[in-house]
Amino acid sequence: MIDFNNLSRVHEPKKIEKGIYEWWESQGYFRPEKQRELGLVKENGPRFCITLPPPNVTGVLHLGHAIVLTLEDLMTRYERMKQKETLFLPGTDHAGIATQNVVERELAKKEIYRKEIGRKKFLKEVWDWTNKCQKIILGQSRSMGASCDWTRNRFTLDERYSKAVITAFNHLYKKGLIYRGKYMINWCPGRCESAISNLEAESEEYESYLWYLKYPIIMDKWNGPKEEWASGNWAKGATEFIMLATTRPETLLGDTAVAIAPNHQEFSKYKGKTAVLPVLGRKIPIFEDSYVDPKFGTGALKITPAHDPNDYEIGIKYNLEAITVIDKSGKMVPEYSGKYANLDRFECRNEIIKDLEKEGLLEKIEPYSHTVTHCQRCNTIIEPRISTQWFVRTRTLAREAMDAVKSGRTMMIPEREEMRFYQWMENIRDWCISRQLWWGHQIPVWYCSNGHEICEMEEPIQCPTCNDKTLKQDEDVLDTWFSSGLWPFATLGWPNLESEDFIRYYPNNIRETGIDILFFWVAREMMLGLELTKQSPYRICYFHGIIRNDQGKKISKSMENIEQYDPLKIIEKYGSDSLRFTFIANTVPGKDLNLGKGLLKASKNFCNKIWQSTNYILSNLDKTEKIERFSSLDQMEKLHIGDRWILSRLNKMIKKVNNYYEEYSYINAARSIRSFFWDEFCDWYIEISKIRIYDENERDKITPISILLYVLEITLRLLHPIIPFLTEALWQTLPEKVKDGPALIVAKWPEFDESLIDDMLDQDFGLISSLIREIRRVRKEFNIKPGLKIPLIIQTGDNRELIKNTASEIIALSHIDQNQFKIDETDVPKHSARIVLQGIIIYLPLEGIIDLNIEIERISKQIKLIEEHKQKSEKKLSGPFSQRANPEIVQREEEKLKQLKERKRILEEQLEILR
Ligand SMILES: [Zn+2]
Ligand SMILES: [Zn+2]
Repeated sequence: MIDFNNLSRVHEPKKIEKGIYEWWESQGYFRPEKQRELGLVKENGPRFCITLPPPNVTGVLHLGHAIVLTLEDLMTRYERMKQKETLFLPGTDHAGIATQNVVERELAKKEIYRKEIGRKKFLKEVWDWTNKCQKIILGQSRSMGASCDWTRNRFTLDERYSKAVITAFNHLYKKGLIYRGKYMINWCPGRCESAISNLEAESEEYESYLWYLKYPIIMDKWNGPKEEWASGNWAKGATEFIMLATTRPETLLGDTAVAIAPNHQEFSKYKGKTAVLPVLGRKIPIFEDSYVDPKFGTGALKITPAHDPNDYEIGIKYNLEAITVIDKSGKMVPEYSGKYANLDRFECRNEIIKDLEKEGLLEKIEPYSHTVTHCQRCNTIIEPRISTQWFVRTRTLAREAMDAVKSGRTMMIPEREEMRFYQWMENIRDWCISRQLWWGHQIPVWYCSNGHEICEMEEPIQCPTCNDKTLKQDEDVLDTWFSSGLWPFATLGWPNLESEDFIRYYPNNIRETGIDILFFWVAREMMLGLELTKQSPYRICYFHGIIRNDQGKKISKSMENIEQYDPLKIIEKYGSDSLRFTFIANTVPGKDLNLGKGLLKASKNFCNKIWQSTNYILSNLDKTEKIERFSSLDQMEKLHIGDRWILSRLNKMIKKVNNYYEEYSYINAARSIRSFFWDEFCDWYIEISKIRIYDENERDKITPISILLYVLEITLRLLHPIIPFLTEALWQTLPEKVKDGPALIVAKWPEFDESLIDDMLDQDFGLISSLIREIRRVRKEFNIKPGLKIPLIIQTGDNRELIKNTASEIIALSHIDQNQFKIDETDVPKHSARIVLQGIIIYLPLEGIIDLNIEIERISKQIKLIEEHKQKSEKKLSGPFSQRANPEIVQREEEKLKQLKERKRILEEQLEILR
């Protein structure tokens, strides 16, 4: 635990973050029950609930999880400070195929194989792995500062959650929304040996070939092959052939037709004839169909309904037989493959091509590039396959989900995602929910020996139709998205509608997730949520972008220096607050973030700045006898213009930032607070306040100190949701008198005070700060020693009052000699630098301040040097360069010349003053 009284003088995140997290957790602030008990929220006041997208138990967290944790924690902390009862509910996802694969890979290293050890032992291994992973994920989430209620931590395979999954299945089954059917699915014949969703398949351009094959046609004189296949005489006697092109010659074993494009010049005459399929000699029909693209290959296609999704559709249309010739593991099925029996599909391809050539049935081979689909998990080429699977009927569910978005019951941020959502939902196919895996929720359906199908919550004793007692449960498990699709309500106690959590926190307020997961997950949650609870599962759906490296590349495990993108390593080096600030100050919903060291360093600098400024302010507390809380009413008379200015700026900023938080525009909130704190509060107000704090004769030190504390305390509150650790640590060190409550995490969100906002004052002070900046610039240009107090003559124009009121600020902040600060004097010494700004003219007499001769020499040298560069550039531009070089480079050169001329003009003016 942390000792707030003994914080180090410098910001050392490692020393504070863990302790602060433990302290928050031990105080119970993350738990809604405790929030009520402590009187922080009203019993039946507004509530806020967000369910954390459960990380997969496949390994440690990466930056994608870190941004999720940051954004959702920010939202939760903000709402908690708005005095809502908040629940940030965490958990993990069993992640079916992904986890099974990881564990299989791990076991293979020890030469242990899934199929050898069997289902029961294998599942025990996966559970061990899961428990280990969950511990790591828990620790990582804590180090990100996520203020989750860990007492409600859920896992998609825990007992209560599993009950929800089975209830959902039963409900949909009994309503006819789940059915078992034959379907062409993506099949991974690799390590997965399972159906793969479209979303788990990745398409890639692939350099391959187009094989032109000839199938002989039955004619009066030739009635089919007489000789063995691969004898070289198989097609002997055939006179007519139809030629077609294919990218997959091995599938010809499953061909059941040849289709030709309508009105084909050469092949129309074969319409209605019969072709003989090479290898087994099967006789197949030739017909015409507009599906065939006349421009592809020869304008004729082999039709393989069992191994191509488009051919499958044609097969249904013409009632063709679908013959599966490739088995679950990618090997040729003996019954249909003759001499190629049991060969791997790609070996078969090589062999069959050799034999086709031998038989004179291979016309030619052309290089051809086309897209090939790979399994995302094991990279095996996907095999389309007809198999019996379980499906969810999605048509009506999708319509409900679209209606919920159209009617505004669920809103998407950014809004353009709604269009993508509709497009997807309008084209949705039935959702294949069965997976041939071991790790997951086993399908709650049993079969009796007479083939009756029984769907129940628990294992039935006998078949209700035939009373048979030998029942067998379906071996498949459910798609992992089926269970995660129930996340917003199954975590809250559904299907128990009386559950207090379900009543209090459903629907969730927001679903925040990566943009890449819209269809995987959000679509499922919307469909299942609306069907099962009759409510949209959340009101807002907020999508953040994907995190990339500083060159804009997607961060992947195979990347070089991948460890520098490990969130724990980043936290170790920069601190959790810096990482969080980097995310928030640089991401817009739906846009990707290129994360580099530069951004992290900038955030760390900002954190240091807050730490040091706070320490500086606290170190001045002994300058005043008592500490007062600033309250606008009784102190207004004592305020200087600078005080009123910072109060106006602060309240304007609060107003703006509150809107940004309400509009989910966190990037603008973070940047506004940073620029206020750094550019206005630290750079100006802290400097101005020193005038009174360090003046021996000044009696009122309470005012500047109470304003310093007031601005600081509010800024810490505004920053808390973004950088919780550092703000809590510093807030705890502020005097009790200037804050309310036991902890910043449960402090009230700041409101702005309209009466303190003064636009005129902002303008006036803006003018004064510009003047001071100009004086500082001139001092630098003439090489005036930084601390040296110099004379100044100011002709105030219309601003006499303003200048008089701010004289002490101008004098202090631009190091002017108080006795030589002259207002509206007309007698200006010869060697004086001049500044003109909005009708105000300032003269800085230089004689006696700098050595005129040395400066003349220095500036003359500079002019000479610039002149040389200028001539070079002019020569270059007048030569052949300007015609030949890239116009962009020429433009850059012209720009350079312009700058040189301008610089020379300024230096010549300075020289004029000095001579
Ligand atoms: Zn696979
Ligand atoms: Zn039965």
